[in-house]
Amino acid sequence: MKLLVLTGDGIGPEIMAPTVAALEVLDRRFGLELDLEDRDIGFAALDKGDSALPEAVIEAARASDGVILGPVDTFSYPPAEEGGVNPSGGLRKALDLYANMRPSRSRPGVPSVVPGMDLVVARENTEGFYADRNMFQGSGEFMPSEDIALSVRKISRAGSDRIARAAFDLAMRRRRKVTIVHKANVLKMTDGLFLSVARDVAADYPGIEVEDIIVDAMTAHLIRRGGDFDVVLTSNMYGDILSDEAAELSGGLGLGPSINTSDDHGIAQAAHGSAPDIAGRGIANPTALMLSVAMLLDWLGARSGREEFTEASRLLDAAVEATLADSACHTGDLGGKATTREFGEAALCAIETGEHP
Ligand code: NAD
Repeated sequence: MKLLVLTGDGIGPEIMAPTVAALEVLDRRFGLELDLEDRDIGFAALDKGDSALPEAVIEAARASDGVILGPVDTFSYPPAEEGGVNPSGGLRKALDLYANMRPSRSRPGVPSVVPGMDLVVARENTEGFYADRNMFQGSGEFMPSEDIALSVRKISRAGSDRIARAAFDLAMRRRRKVTIVHKANVLKMTDGLFLSVARDVAADYPGIEVEDIIVDAMTAHLIRRGGDFDVVLTSNMYGDILSDEAAELSGGLGLGPSINTSDDHGIAQAAHGSAPDIAGRGIANPTALMLSVAMLLDWLGARSGREEFTEASRLLDAAVEATLADSACHTGDLGGKATTREFGEAALCAIETGEHP
């Protein structure tokens, strides 16, 4: 299996190192036969005079079986015309990665605002308000004059249908409940279309409990009763915001993993950003990226029928969970003193010695 490793900016190198080390141990233990290839994106590519997302990297991503994408500091990039292309948005558009699954779970030993939470935000990933990827040509954001800025939000029947099906399929493998989150009380056409398509899809899954909640209220419901939700189906920006909220409620942004998938491609990517405020200090929490890789291994196992990938995914997840259960391994975001390296070493040890779950 060929995996492309794109380290990214800010804390990217710090969290990618233990993640790749864990993958190498899993490769040896389970005979995964991984072929890891590194390519530059973000500032590493810009510094060489390239775009932040070189065309060759897009081609390499297409040709690989899976991608591990580190966080990118897109807010600091130069304009797109000068190479500052968003690697995350660019890859989602180029590979049509319409489903962004972002789980959040309260875990033993991790101080959590909402104990007992175990949900997945199923976020539409290619349209909505995201101007850099929601148009066939041009941008969804433009300025008719220097004092007016407009942004077009796209919701399509096909786009809503495919993320709804991905969410209901996921709920079938979990606790069989889907919460559709929208703002159809105000955005009657766009969110109205999303909600109506989601309800149509629900009719094909009679065994699943379905409810819908308006997005502003959902931010409160997550805090008050986050443990009641299973799969939260929503559009692009609501999903981005709600998944960060859920990650923080589970203990911190550094805990939130994700996978971006199309029918043919998968990219593991932490839900958080490049954390410039702590970059270079060796204190970032690598949990989110490590768990994202566990999701990628699981996805590869399901696609290929190679059970060893599924087993490696389970062991990686369990090893990270065991590491988090020990407060001596907690990084600063969880109130601890451990460094990224120490967390990674403990997780590696748990993989090497851990019973295969
Ligand atoms: P951020 O997620 O980078 O950071 C928000 C806060 O969470 C910071 O205090 C940071 O220190 C903390 N944090 C995040 N990840 C952590 C980790 N693994 N361990 C410990 N603490 C962690 O969000 P931001 O500051 O709003 O954005 C910074 C940059 O990241 C911006 O350029 C933004 O565009 C970009 N961004 C990228 C992605 C992505 O690559 N998918 C996602 C979100 C933001």
